[in-house]
Amino acid sequence: MFQNLTPRPPDPLLELIKLFAEDPRPEKIDLGIGVYRDEAGCTPVFKAVKEAEAALQQTQTTKSYVGPEGDRRFVALLRDLAFGKELSERLGGRMIGLQTPGGTGALRLAADVAVKAHARRVILGLPAWTNHAPIFNAAGLSIHTYDYFDAAAQSVRFDRLLQALDAAEHGDVVVLQGCCHNPTGADLTARQWHDVAEALVNKGLLPLIDTAYHGLGHGLDADMAPIRHLLGHVPEALVTYSCSKNFGLYRERTGALFVLAETPKAASTALSIAVDAARPNYSMPPDHGGAVVRIVLDDPAIRADWRQELESMRKRIAEIRARLSAEAHAHGLALDAIKTQAGMFSTLPMPAEAVLKLREVAAIYMPETGRINVAGLAENSVARFVAALARLPREQLSGLRRKNAG
Ligand code: PLP
Repeated sequence: MFQNLTPRPPDPLLELIKLFAEDPRPEKIDLGIGVYRDEAGCTPVFKAVKEAEAALQQTQTTKSYVGPEGDRRFVALLRDLAFGKELSERLGGRMIGLQTPGGTGALRLAADVAVKAHARRVILGLPAWTNHAPIFNAAGLSIHTYDYFDAAAQSVRFDRLLQALDAAEHGDVVVLQGCCHNPTGADLTARQWHDVAEALVNKGLLPLIDTAYHGLGHGLDADMAPIRHLLGHVPEALVTYSCSKNFGLYRERTGALFVLAETPKAASTALSIAVDAARPNYSMPPDHGGAVVRIVLDDPAIRADWRQELESMRKRIAEIRARLSAEAHAHGLALDAIKTQAGMFSTLPMPAEAVLKLREVAAIYMPETGRINVAGLAENSVARFVAALARLPREQLSGLRRKNAG
């Protein structure tokens, strides 16, 4: 049977990792892979995570199954962290959650719940995270796209988003990223979130808020403020949460899905549908990451360490963004928006040929879409990156050149 299978093309990002690893040039820069990097180019384990792991090793008495909903205390703590105590208490039993294998697992369960609730279509802004469409396709939703981002202007095409909501049908799922949009770094303003909330309510649409970078944009409370407002207004929503980036737990597959319903009874029914979808798939979530996050959030001292580490990551990203903008300005390039965008990613307005040229002549690796992982840069590599951009052939540089810079 396997003789007749056609191999799938390799994932372009994984290919990029391979090419980068094989490049012998010592000055090479990796802006491709979507993990946080420190100044030394490492993706370290949080000190707080190490502390929690040490405590877990001392206290864990069994490796028996955790159950399909995962670690309930982890889910409760994460719920307060994401939505704030005040909203969390106000919503009460209308908002409940379960632990999932990462944000990806939560997205798939969210799509499964939506399909069971008779959603047929999902409205997705482009460019989207590369796994969004495959997840929603696999769950059986049909995908309707709109242009979320104007690469040349480096800003959100809010008019297109509103048009997409206006054209949507009652019961459509609308995917929105909570903060630090991947791959553009361009988020909605608070005012725009308010308008979106209103449109969702008026049209009877189901928001699916994908939160994968909480705390890496403007801080833990600021990042979620507009989402909290939205959740206080819409009758129903699905929220997916990933602990991969903000706890550095990528490989531990740690996340959660939260369901907001009109009544506690409807919320618990929706949750039972999510459990039902998980059972024949991965059965139950892995325990380790959830247990670690539970200990971090439950222990005031470890929690304080974690907040400090997260805050220093956030600040480092913001500093690199500011530096990148200033350096680009000095070279006659237009990267001003980079410093107002948030999170690890931005998408530069450059053609694939320019990306390949950078790879060839300067050992700078990024995917052909022009997405860069800002955290892949360090204080000492920003200047080299911008100088390489400025040396690109004139015709490939048009999207990056300042209008009045000749
Ligand atoms: N959503 C977005 C926008 C992401 O960028 C990611 C990861 O890169 C995820 C969800 C899923 O994260 P994970 O499954 O690794 O927790």
